Amino acid sequence: MNEYDSNRIYDLVKKINYRKTLNPKDADCYVLNTCHIREKATEKVYHDIGRIKKAFRNKQKPIVVISGCVAQAEGEILLRREKYIDAVIGPQSYHQFNETLLKAEKGVKKINSTEFEVIEKFDQLNHIKNSESKVSSFLTIQEGCNKFCKFCVVPYTRGAEYSRSIIELVQECKSLVSNGAKEITLLGQNVNAYNFKGKRLSDLIKEISKIKNLKRIRYTTSHPIDFTEDLIKIHNTSEKLMPLIHLPVQSGSNKILKMMNRKHTIKDYLNIIAKLKIFKNNIQFSSDFIIGYPGETDKDFDLTIQLMKKVKYINSFSFIFSPRPGTPAASMKPIDESIAKKRLIIFQKIANEIKLNYRKNLLNKNSLVLFENKIGSKNEFFGRDEYLNSVIVKTNENLEGKIKEVKIVSGNQNTLYGEIIQKKETEFAA
Ligand code: SF4
Repeated sequence: MNEYDSNRIYDLVKKINYRKTLNPKDADCYVLNTCHIREKATEKVYHDIGRIKKAFRNKQKPIVVISGCVAQAEGEILLRREKYIDAVIGPQSYHQFNETLLKAEKGVKKINSTEFEVIEKFDQLNHIKNSESKVSSFLTIQEGCNKFCKFCVVPYTRGAEYSRSIIELVQECKSLVSNGAKEITLLGQNVNAYNFKGKRLSDLIKEISKIKNLKRIRYTTSHPIDFTEDLIKIHNTSEKLMPLIHLPVQSGSNKILKMMNRKHTIKDYLNIIAKLKIFKNNIQFSSDFIIGYPGETDKDFDLTIQLMKKVKYINSFSFIFSPRPGTPAASMKPIDESIAKKRLIIFQKIANEIKLNYRKNLLNKNSLVLFENKIGSKNEFFGRDEYLNSVIVKTNENLEGKIKEVKIVSGNQNTLYGEIIQKKETEFAA
């Protein structure tokens, strides 16, 4: 989402004549667009400012703006602690970017724009064309969260759930496709909670599936409790919807899920997976896991391992629990760090074995790959298959923006290498 936001911020500031520079040491303005989900996010901001200060030691100080969720969560503290920062702008106040920059140009310091004005933000951004021109583009359709998982800062930094108008989204999709996008990933902190005047994510998918030159649709990140029947069924009917779902579970233990306030059980979760498999038998899953959550026992951890082995996620993102200031979980009694570390190692070993096995099975098989870009000056093109696996092929043909059938001939943990077996571009039914 931050990548999408950064592009939209750039669309905005172009209006007041700011342009990207290839030489950061000559910049007049730095925008650090931050993410608070990552550990030590605030420290990274101070670290980056240290680097800017060093580069500009003998030059005119650039305008420094901190945007994103760190700005939202810790804006006042940042402004007080670091004099070098001119402004903080929260994720729901991006429409005030230009006003803020113009004030900072005039020497106004310590500008704090961290109001939750999400409706006003999208109202204004809808009038500014999305100029992104990537083969695979992002589109934010929903922001915020009402779920309040006890470990998570999002409800405090992005505010309540808000869905954008379906008409505006279809418009923005068309604009991205006319700029060259062949794949669009619909984004939201709770993307499947999308609800604009009764229109759900499945309705939006149906609408954008009609856009002729759009070949692939993805969405992320989903919450199990919003996985409604209509969304499950659309995986059967929309050929453009890719057969990979990122469905965070966090833990395999119902006790821990309850302590996290996740609002679903493992039975509910597995039911969704089972139904999806009925409608789309080639569907695969990826997920997020928190290891060592407060109160996690060996038995709870074992249940997480069992879940991993049962679902056989083709990709998983696992982290040791780390408290986020201001969240309820931050005041819970942590488990022994060395135990959490050991569990993470065990978990990741099993997750990697499953992933490796899955990837070995791809060898000598054919995949449909959407090619995104040429790699440097080599005759190699980078693309992704339907399951987001990175694929590289050698060719003299310009493959950018094309979908080709590729035979996978080798690979490692991160990349698959293939040969094109079909010269004609594959066309999907609209
Ligand atoms: S549903 Fe997702 S975004 Fe919302 S609180 Fe839970 S983890 Fe955070």
